[in-house]
Amino acid sequence: MSTLRFHAVKESLSRKPIYIEENSRRSELFGSNVFNHAAMRQYLTKDALESINEAIDKGSKINRLTADHISTGMKEWAISKGATHYTHWFQPLTGATAEKHDAFFETIGDGLAIEKFAGNQLVQQEPDASSFPHGGIRNTFEARGYTAWDPSSPAFIYGTTLCIPTVFVSYTGEALDYKTPLLRALHSVDKAAVSVCKYFDKNVRKVSASLGWEQEYFLIDNALATSRPDIVLTGRTLLGHSPAKGQQLDDHYFGTIPARAMAYMRDLENECMLLGIPVKTRHNEVAPNQFELAPIYEEANLAVDHNSLLMDVMQKVAKRHDFKVLMHEKPFTGVNGSGKHNNWSLSTDKGVNLLSPGKTPMSNLQFLTFFINTIKAVQTYEELLRAAIASASNDHRLGANEAPPAIISVFIGQQLTKVLEELETVTKGKLSPKEKTDLKLNVVGKIPEILLDNTDRNRTSPFAFTGNKFEFRAVGSKANCANPMTVLNSIVAKQLIDFKTEVDLLIDEKSMKKDDAIFNVLREYIKTCKAILFEGNGYSEDWEKEAKKRGLSNNKTTPEALKVKISKDTLALFGSLGVMNRVEAEARYEIEMEEYILHIQIESRVIGDIARNHIVPTAVRYQNILIENVTGLKTIYGDKFKNYAKEQLSLIEQISQHIENINSLVTRMTDERKSFNKQIDLAAKANGYCNKIRPLFEDIRYHCDKLELMIDDELWPLTKYRELLFTK
Ligand code: ADP
Ligand code: MG
Repeated sequence: MSTLRFHAVKESLSRKPIYIEENSRRSELFGSNVFNHAAMRQYLTKDALESINEAIDKGSKINRLTADHISTGMKEWAISKGATHYTHWFQPLTGATAEKHDAFFETIGDGLAIEKFAGNQLVQQEPDASSFPHGGIRNTFEARGYTAWDPSSPAFIYGTTLCIPTVFVSYTGEALDYKTPLLRALHSVDKAAVSVCKYFDKNVRKVSASLGWEQEYFLIDNALATSRPDIVLTGRTLLGHSPAKGQQLDDHYFGTIPARAMAYMRDLENECMLLGIPVKTRHNEVAPNQFELAPIYEEANLAVDHNSLLMDVMQKVAKRHDFKVLMHEKPFTGVNGSGKHNNWSLSTDKGVNLLSPGKTPMSNLQFLTFFINTIKAVQTYEELLRAAIASASNDHRLGANEAPPAIISVFIGQQLTKVLEELETVTKGKLSPKEKTDLKLNVVGKIPEILLDNTDRNRTSPFAFTGNKFEFRAVGSKANCANPMTVLNSIVAKQLIDFKTEVDLLIDEKSMKKDDAIFNVLREYIKTCKAILFEGNGYSEDWEKEAKKRGLSNNKTTPEALKVKISKDTLALFGSLGVMNRVEAEARYEIEMEEYILHIQIESRVIGDIARNHIVPTAVRYQNILIENVTGLKTIYGDKFKNYAKEQLSLIEQISQHIENINSLVTRMTDERKSFNKQIDLAAKANGYCNKIRPLFEDIRYHCDKLELMIDDELWPLTKYRELLFTK
């Protein structure tokens, strides 16, 4: 029998140490710091609980009196867990999460004080929003922002603070955050999918989108990482020669996790358990010191919140282990970058995954309906989907010889390709009895095989069907998933609405039977969807040419990619669904363009500083040592000195050339910056930063990296790739 030994997660982000029996089950920890159903049952009245459930299921309002009951219960629970403060927790368009803490503590006169948390403090708050990006919305409307409770994402305790997930909107109702449009998109896909589901099952009341993200990241020794000004200020290395050994031996992927990283992961996973983030998988990634973490998938809104929270927890836990987490998409040139696959599916309140092939012909028809409609949605809005993942840092992956390409295509695998081909050949109009039987055979006979064929995965595809879900692989590792999820769910919602209209038309006007009508519309879709389906190598040049012929967009840079965000079609899409109005959509475009410019501007300043103030002076110092050495040789050997100093003399010359190049390139870059900073037109400015300033980084880097190979290692001012990547 094992002796019972307890140890505390002493450094837990929660104040009260949680005692965990050694080798105890993770499941017992799960959600202890979340105001989940179990906690609610304990702390809330039955009425209050019901009213929360209704708010979650139907979006109904919670009245003031009930809100007071809920806030009181929530406060009691939070205090029992050691919380002293509360905050509305939201996701402004900076990409990070925001919070402003207030104490429960309140004075009530006569020197007395109590802990108080009223219903209105739970439901609505007014943070000082003036310093969040708002892309003109506030100027136009002179709006003030407020945060409002989102009961569908449970409150949780982080450190000693009760965090209440909220939306962030202006007083005129415009979304100032990521969550609001996401909730609206999830609502529209729910509505649209339910009405399509009714063809197959009249009892379906709700369809939810699920998201399972896979978070890739680098774990770097904190002291080494903070010795690099570029990592500290931009999250990536702007300079650095490749080490002698990189990832060419492929010896890291799925290898043994180094002990120190493992200790970090265990600690991180404990924190995630407390916060109710259901992390499940951990492994090494392709590059040295690169890892991945994935949870069990959840309802999309909750999954987005959990990913945002996780990114914060990861950094905090890393501090305890003297690590720094690099969440950047491309921290090291020449080494694999990081992404965040977004696994997405739709499921009904009856527990049916609509993207899972079923066992009966009818359930397969339902599967094919959602499967084909998703493909069609991606085909119609491929450029918008590309825009949803655009950022300065993700540009290093997309379209830059790195998985996946900037061209959006859908991979479905051999078997499903065949199923679609067969479906397409069914004769026009009504299905003959033979065709129906054939389809049954084909659909039922073939589809289950794809589950076995799961390994046949095309890693180069940005949007792949993997058995019972689509995997959007082009999302950036540090991105907030809300943006791509808002777009994906919106375009599928729109597509399902159109589909229903077309099917109903055939039923009503052509008196077609329901199944025949569905088959008919799906068959037409298959014909028009061919351009987006691609099974080959997404990195190849041939694909770029082929994609161009097919009319697919290939926007390699952020300013190019973002344009579509304010196109007529996009505005109509979001407007018709009620996901975003014109002001909100335009504001987001502006914010993202500005963010792009600022991002490149900061990188440009940092690389200029490092090159001129760190590298050049070091090169000069080393060159002087060489000169001194050569002069010494001349004193000793007279004219014969050249026999001993040929290489040295050449080195002195090469160093001079590199120094000269660096100085002139940095001057040119600074001049370009000055000129584009005067540019008032946002697009022209972003394009300038993208096409005139950013390319100079490579040139400056080239000379600096050459110098790294020439200069005395002891003098070199920057921690090298070798040290950053191979210190475990
Ligand atoms: P990988 O893509 O690395 O092989 P998996 O396919 O096992 O990994 O799972 C990746 C992620 O997909 C996990 O977060 C998992 O929870 C999620 N996932 C699995 N099934 C679904 C589904 N039906 N809907 C959404 N996400 C899912
Ligand atoms: Mg994956």
